Amino acid sequence: MSDTELVLRSTRVVTPDGTRPASVEVAHGTITAVTAHDAPVPGGARLEDLGDDVLLPGLVDTHVHVNDPGRSEWEGFWTATRAAAAGGITTLIDMPLNSLPPTTTVAHLRAKQRAAAGRVHVDVGFWGGALPDNVHDLRPLHEAGVFGFKAFLSPSGVDEFPHLDRERLDRSLEEIAAFDGLLIVHAEDPHQLAAAPRHGGPRYADFLASRPRRAEDTAVAHLVDRAAHLDGRVHVLHLSSGDALPVIAAARADGVRVTVETCPHYLTLTAEEVPDGASEFKCCPPIREAANRELLWRALADGTIDCVVTDHSPSTADLKTDDFATAWGGISGLQLSLPAVWTEARGRGHGLEDVVRWMSARTAGLAGLGARKGAVAPGRDADFAVLAPDETFTVDPAALQHRNRVTAYTGRTLYGVVRSTWLRGRRILADGEFTAPRGRLLTRSP
Ligand SMILES: [Zn+2]
Repeated sequence: MSDTELVLRSTRVVTPDGTRPASVEVAHGTITAVTAHDAPVPGGARLEDLGDDVLLPGLVDTHVHVNDPGRSEWEGFWTATRAAAAGGITTLIDMPLNSLPPTTTVAHLRAKQRAAAGRVHVDVGFWGGALPDNVHDLRPLHEAGVFGFKAFLSPSGVDEFPHLDRERLDRSLEEIAAFDGLLIVHAEDPHQLAAAPRHGGPRYADFLASRPRRAEDTAVAHLVDRAAHLDGRVHVLHLSSGDALPVIAAARADGVRVTVETCPHYLTLTAEEVPDGASEFKCCPPIREAANRELLWRALADGTIDCVVTDHSPSTADLKTDDFATAWGGISGLQLSLPAVWTEARGRGHGLEDVVRWMSARTAGLAGLGARKGAVAPGRDADFAVLAPDETFTVDPAALQHRNRVTAYTGRTLYGVVRSTWLRGRRILADGEFTAPRGRLLTRSP
C-alpha cells in the first residue's frame, strides 16, 4: 500500500509544461505525482475519472474585498468563499479596506482572522493597509503574516482609509523596502481627478470623463519613479488605462521591480455598451472604450500585464443608485471571473494554459505562495478546479453565491462550467453542493 489516497484522471490536465492526458496522485492534501493517464492506480487509492473535463490548478485571486467584519451586509467570509469555490477559486487574499476595522494594525488583523475562522470554504490570506499615520505598524503587520500593503494615491471611497500624498508614499515605500515587502497601489492621481470634468447623473460618458486615463498614467509614472529611486517592490492594482503600459514596460526593462494586474471587467466589458444609469458597471478606475480593451489584451499576450484578479467589491443593492457620481464603485465578479475571462480569451486564440498563468500561477507568485499554490505539480497543495470549457451558461443573478446578487454580467452567455472544486484533495463543491467549510487562514511564508 502506498500513501496515495486519491487519483484524479483526465484527458486534459493543465500542467506547467502544457495540457495533456494525465493522472494526478494526491496524499495528505498534497500532489505527489503527475503520471501517465493510464498509470495503474496505487493500492488503496480512490480513482476519480474526470473524462474529458479539464483539471486546472485552483485559481488564486489576490484582490477580493470581503468587507467582514463591519460591512458584512455587503459581503462576508461565508458568502465570498462559497462564491469563490463556485468559480473555481481556491485561494483568495482579502483587501484591507471596507471592513471595520481596516487591516492596518496587528490588532485589526487579529479581528479579521477571528471573523474568518471556521467560516471559509477556501484558503484566505490578508493584505495589510498603508495609511498616512501607520508607518510604524507596517513591520509588525509584515511579521504577523500579511502578504503586502495596499495604498491609495487618491481618495479610497471610505473615510477610515485615507490616501497617501507624495511625501507619505515615499515614507511608506521606504519602510516597506527596508524589509523587502510589497506595496500594492491603487494608482489614480488626485490632481488629475480634481481637474477632470464633473457631472453627476446617469450618463456613463460623464462618469468616464471624470476618471480619465491620464489620472492613471500620471500616478503609474510617479509610482514607478519612486520604486526606482527607493528600490521598492510595487504592484499596480486593477490597471484600466492601456496608455500606462509603455511606462511599465520601460521601467521593467530598466530593472524596476514593478508588476501589474488587470480585471475581468476591463477585459470583457466596454464603455460603449454600458447603459445609462446602470451603476452595476461602476468601478474605479472605470471600464473604458473597446479600443482600450484591445491594448490590455495585447499586454496580457506579451507579458506586460502579469495577472488577472477580480477586484470583487460588492455593496448592498441600494447603494447602486442610478447616479454614477454617488453610486458605490465596485464590481462583483468572484463567481464569474473564470468563465468571463475564458470566454474572451478563447475567442482571441488563447488557451486555458494562458488563463491559468494569469489567474493562478502568477497570482500565487505575487503573494509569495508559488511553492504551494498555482500549479498542478508535485509538492503543491491538491487544489483544483474541474472545468467543462466548451459548455456555456447564461448568467442568472439568482445562481450567484455573492451576498448581494448585483452583477454587470446578467444575461451574458459565457463559456466554462465549473463542475467541481477541490481543496487539499477534498472536494468542497460538486453539482452546486458545498461541504462544511475547510479553508485555512494563510500567512506569508517567512
Ligand atoms: Zn479593490
